[in-house]
Amino acid sequence: MPPGNSQRFSASGEISRCQLSVRATKLVHVGYIPHHRDIGTGFLAASELNRPSHPVDQYQRPLRDLRISVTDRCNFRCPYCMPAEIYGERYEFLPRADILTFEEITRITSLITSLGVSKIRLTGGEPLIRADLPQLIGMLSSIPDVEDLTLTTNGYLLEKFANQLVEAGLQRITVSLDSLDDEVFRKMNGRNFDTEPVLKGIAAAEKAGLSPIKINAVVEKGVNDHTLVELARHFKGSGHIVRFIEFMDVGNLNGWNMEKVVPSREVIDAISAELPPEPIEPNYPGEVARRWRYVDGDGEIGVITSVTEPFCGDCTRARLTTDGNLVTCLFAAGGTDLRGPMRAGASDEELVGLISSTWQDRTDRYSAERTATLNTGDERPRKKIEMYQIGG
Ligand code: SAM
Ligand code: SF4
Ligand code: SF4
Repeated sequence: MPPGNSQRFSASGEISRCQLSVRATKLVHVGYIPHHRDIGTGFLAASELNRPSHPVDQYQRPLRDLRISVTDRCNFRCPYCMPAEIYGERYEFLPRADILTFEEITRITSLITSLGVSKIRLTGGEPLIRADLPQLIGMLSSIPDVEDLTLTTNGYLLEKFANQLVEAGLQRITVSLDSLDDEVFRKMNGRNFDTEPVLKGIAAAEKAGLSPIKINAVVEKGVNDHTLVELARHFKGSGHIVRFIEFMDVGNLNGWNMEKVVPSREVIDAISAELPPEPIEPNYPGEVARRWRYVDGDGEIGVITSVTEPFCGDCTRARLTTDGNLVTCLFAAGGTDLRGPMRAGASDEELVGLISSTWQDRTDRYSAERTATLNTGDERPRKKIEMYQIGG
C-alpha cells in the first residue's frame, strides 16, 4: 500500500492538530490516492478551502515542473560540477538513511501533482547509479497526473539500462555529452572516459524507443567551444536535439567566472557559418531552451542562455534534493525540509500545505539579478547549493 493511505482524514480540524512546525496554511489536497483523481473521494475542491489549487509565487509564476535528484553521487567528475580535487575518495556523500526512499519520492511527487505539476525529471548526481532506478520510474509513471516523465543522465550506463527504463514507463531522455573529441571529453568528465560508452547509450536509448532524445553540452570557453560545430554536425539529421548550455555559476566550487562563458549567440553564429539554423517558436511557454531549426529542414538544436539572457520570468520549476529539501531555485542556498515532517508523521494535507506555502513565498530570480549585477559590477558572493545535490 502506498505510504499515506493510512493517513487520510477529513479536512476539518486536522490543521490545528498539527504537531509539526510546518507552515501548513495553504491546503488543497487531503488524501494520497495515486490512482484516483475524483475530487469527491479524497481531493477537496480548492474553492472549499478558499485556497488556490495551483499556487503562484510572488511573481505570479505557477508551479509546473519538479526535478528530483535521486542521488548525490556520480561516476563522473565534471570540473564544472563536481571537481575531482574536491570530490575525492574521502568525500562524504549522504548516508543512506538521509536519502529519500522510493516511497517517499513517490509520495511527494503524487502530492505535488495536486498543485499543478505534471512534468517530472529525474536527475542527480548520476541517476543511473541509484540502485533499482527502473522501479522508481515504474512508481512515478503510474501517478495519473504525471504527464511527462524524463531523466537526465551522463549516459555512461545507459546502454545497460535503456530497455528497463522504457519498460518501466520512461518516455524520453536527455543525455549529457559535452564533446565528441575524446581528449576534450576525457577532460570534461574528469574520469578519463571516452565518448564510446555514451554514444552506445544514446544508440540504445533510440533503439529502446525513447523519444525525443536531447543531448546537453555545457559550453566552456577554451575547453570545448572549438568542438561544438562537430557535435551539431554529428547529430544533424538523427532526430536528436543538441542543446548548448551556457556554463553557469551553480554552487561555489566550480571556479566559474564570466570569462569562461561563451554566449549562446556566439554558439549560434559558429554553427550558422556551416549549418545555418533559424529561430522557431517554443513548444510551450517557459521552455528553457531557445529552439533553432536547420533551414534545410534536417533537424533542430537549442541554446540555454541562462547567463546572458536569463529566463527567470517564466521559471516554473521546483527541485527536490536527494535528502528531501524542496528548493525553488537552482541557485538557492537552501530549501524547505520535507523529509523531517514526513518521517515525523506529517499527513498528506500538511505536506501539501508546506509545499504550497513554500511556492507561494517564492521570490527567486537569481539569474536575472546576477546578470543585472554583472552589468553594474555590484556582485556579492553568496552560498549556493551544489548542482549535483539539487539536480540540473
Ligand atoms: N549526471 C547527469 C548529467 O550529467 O546529465 C545529471 C545531473 S547534471 C547536474 C544535469 C545537467 O546539468 C547536465 O546536463 C550537466 O551538464 C549540467 N550542468 C552541470 N553543471 C553545470 C554548470 N556549471 N553549468 C551548466 N550546466 C551544468
Ligand atoms: Fe556527474 Fe552530471 Fe555533475 Fe557531470 S554534470 S559531475 S555527470 S552530476
Ligand atoms: Fe529559475 Fe532560479 Fe534559474 Fe531564475 S535562476 S530561471 S528562478 S532556477
